[in-house]
Amino acid sequence: MFNCIIVKFGEIFIKGKNRNDFISLLEKNIKNYLKEFKKLSYFVYHDHICIELNNENYLQIIDILKNIGGIYSISPAIKIKKIDLKTIQNGVFFLIKKIIKQKKTFKIFCKRSNKNIDFSSKEIIDYIASNILKKTRFKVDVHNPNISIFIEIRNDGVFIFLEKILAIGGYPIGMNGKILMLISGGIDSPVASYLLIKKGVILEFVHFASPPYTKEAVIDKIKDLLKELKRFQFFIKLYIVNFTEIQTKIYEIFDESYAITEIRRMMYRIAIKLAKKNNCLAIANGDSIGQVSSQTIHSMNVIEEVNKEKISIIRPLSIFDKIDIIKIAKEINTYDISIRPYDDCCTIFSHKNSKIRPKIEKILLFEKKINYDYLVEKAIKNTKIIII
Ligand code: ATP
Ligand code: MG
Repeated sequence: MFNCIIVKFGEIFIKGKNRNDFISLLEKNIKNYLKEFKKLSYFVYHDHICIELNNENYLQIIDILKNIGGIYSISPAIKIKKIDLKTIQNGVFFLIKKIIKQKKTFKIFCKRSNKNIDFSSKEIIDYIASNILKKTRFKVDVHNPNISIFIEIRNDGVFIFLEKILAIGGYPIGMNGKILMLISGGIDSPVASYLLIKKGVILEFVHFASPPYTKEAVIDKIKDLLKELKRFQFFIKLYIVNFTEIQTKIYEIFDESYAITEIRRMMYRIAIKLAKKNNCLAIANGDSIGQVSSQTIHSMNVIEEVNKEKISIIRPLSIFDKIDIIKIAKEINTYDISIRPYDDCCTIFSHKNSKIRPKIEKILLFEKKINYDYLVEKAIKNTKIIII
């Protein structure tokens, strides 16, 4: 029924050179994701891409396009090369033929960027609407129509479609550099990851595992979470850091109320080094202000004190309420995986007695008893890489 798909861009307000980068990256990403559909042909314009189907399955293609950063909306459409009123009308009737006997309300939207034709948008709407009113049981409703009929008259032809399926928006992946994401098995970090990928960032992931306290099942869980994220990012690399020795040392040396703060400091030290080594511009996590004791601003400051390199630490969820985080987790299919029972290295040694306002002086005193540079280097050297 349809012969093409119209892909409209997300953050279209970007201008100048960025805009060209945006479009060429988006084109590259789309072609990459759709490379198994060999018959497609692509036509790229300043505000949309037209993908001609040449008999490929449009439903499968739309499912993939929905998750590609930088796409705002997707419309299965018919493209007509001949620009005249009668042909446009035939196209509209072709699209509504299945519902033509039903009682529906409709509205026609017409855009005309091709100025070389001698009828106005209003004339097109009037002509087609009057014929629909004559030949169907449809009525016009300009405020809340059952059916919206979009007609776009462009230089390369006329596009007619009935829906604008919303995609994830944002930027094409790769447009905004690479970041190292700290991923646990919980609900928050996959959501934070999704929000960053959607902003055009390529993510690499690091997970801190403390076997035998944490089980292999946690790694499977992380892999399953990352498989869900593959819909948004084509290639995913995961670093597994063995954290057991560091964690055991921390519990030997530190007062229990300071353990989580120190665990976080050590995670950051390692993540920052790993990020630098792998050309990541920043590190990111699933922190949300006030969620637990290590996520008060006081704690964050004390934890971030280790960031001597002053690389950015991004917390996409910092202002989110848990309920809104869960909503996104459900939308991106990570929620059910995240709630599988598991022991994270931080849940084993609970937050219960953790300090809400840890003191940096006290931390530094404890840290004198630990050769953290050596431990950080060792952990980095033993890091395992998994490609998802
Ligand atoms: P989630 O684990 O989904 O973030 P949470 O509420 O359990 O939710 P915390 O355990 O307090 O959050 O962790 C805060 C953030 O620290 C995580 O979002 C994640 O970015 C990072 N983090 C915690 N544990 C680990 C781990 N074992 N490996 C890597 N990152 C971790
Ligand atoms: Mg967690």
